[in-house]
Amino acid sequence: MCNESDKKLISILVPCYNEEAVLHLLYQRISAVIEPIQTYTFELIFVNDGSTDHTLDIIHELRAKDSRISYVNLSRNFGKEIAMIAGIDYLKGDAAIIIDADLQDPPELIPEMISWWEKGYDDVYAKRRSRAGESMFKKWSSHAFYYILQKFTHIPIQADVGDFRLLDLQCLNALRLMRESQRYTKGLFSWIGFNKKEILFDRAPRAAGRTKWDYWKLSNLAIEGITSFTILPLRAASFIGCLLALFALIYMAFIIIRTLIYGGDVPGYPSLISIILFIGGIQLLFLGIIGEYLGRVFNESKFRPLYLVKDYNGKSIIDQRCK
Ligand code: UDP
Ligand code: MG
Repeated sequence: MCNESDKKLISILVPCYNEEAVLHLLYQRISAVIEPIQTYTFELIFVNDGSTDHTLDIIHELRAKDSRISYVNLSRNFGKEIAMIAGIDYLKGDAAIIIDADLQDPPELIPEMISWWEKGYDDVYAKRRSRAGESMFKKWSSHAFYYILQKFTHIPIQADVGDFRLLDLQCLNALRLMRESQRYTKGLFSWIGFNKKEILFDRAPRAAGRTKWDYWKLSNLAIEGITSFTILPLRAASFIGCLLALFALIYMAFIIIRTLIYGGDVPGYPSLISIILFIGGIQLLFLGIIGEYLGRVFNESKFRPLYLVKDYNGKSIIDQRCK
């Protein structure tokens, strides 16, 4: 029989933003799953991402009952991507399982993830077989996004895979090294590599509460995904610019020759305007793309901390550099 301290620790990381409606249920479901697992000890780490409801109170309540629970209380809402890295920085496990608070990721998959980890996989991720409770448009747009991202980047980014996964300490440490502030974590998971294993599950609709994502946030995430992993749009700008210049040169030669042979005539006003508008539109589009990348350089060059922690398990963090 092994001693408690010999057992490996698995951290279950739950980013929470206004999740008061589901936390009790989540805790019950996770406890029921981990209770029979005797071979590991567990830590349940909640990241309170600046919730404005009673999420933090519920976390306190749960922590008073169960010493396996710890929490990181961020100073404001930083978004899920940042909440995840805050949790990863603070968790103590030899492996971590990231799970959404709303029970869309079934905790019942945890034992299967652990069993693959034991077989030597470092990153066991859950892929959605179905997307119950999501509109046709959301499904379609997400497919289109993954398709474009796959085409643009050289890193295989798995479609229909969320953040629900088990990560070995090696992967966690790799993620801890990546301090970019505009994070596209799904891409980072692929970028780090290591031994990956896919398992399938049916994604349930939210247990309660509302999704924090709207199409504005999702389209921003899509731009984030593309601009943080490839400079192909910039390259496309160069190519299209070259093509247009070449076309313009040929057209110019054609006009000169035609004028020399047939003499000058009054140039077509509508064609002139449409060409000016077309070129102007393309110029603005590419200026926007360049701006996207410049904005990223600007944001990263400030070297701000990714997040600020108000307290960790009730202990205020005075020096944000130390954990
Ligand atoms: N979340 C967060 N900070 C945010 C938004 C969301 O920590 O600013 C958490 C949220 O509490 C949940 C998870 O991220 O645990 C997924 O959020 P949600 O269910 O709203 O996203 P969806 O499932 O619709 O993609
Ligand atoms: Mg959800």
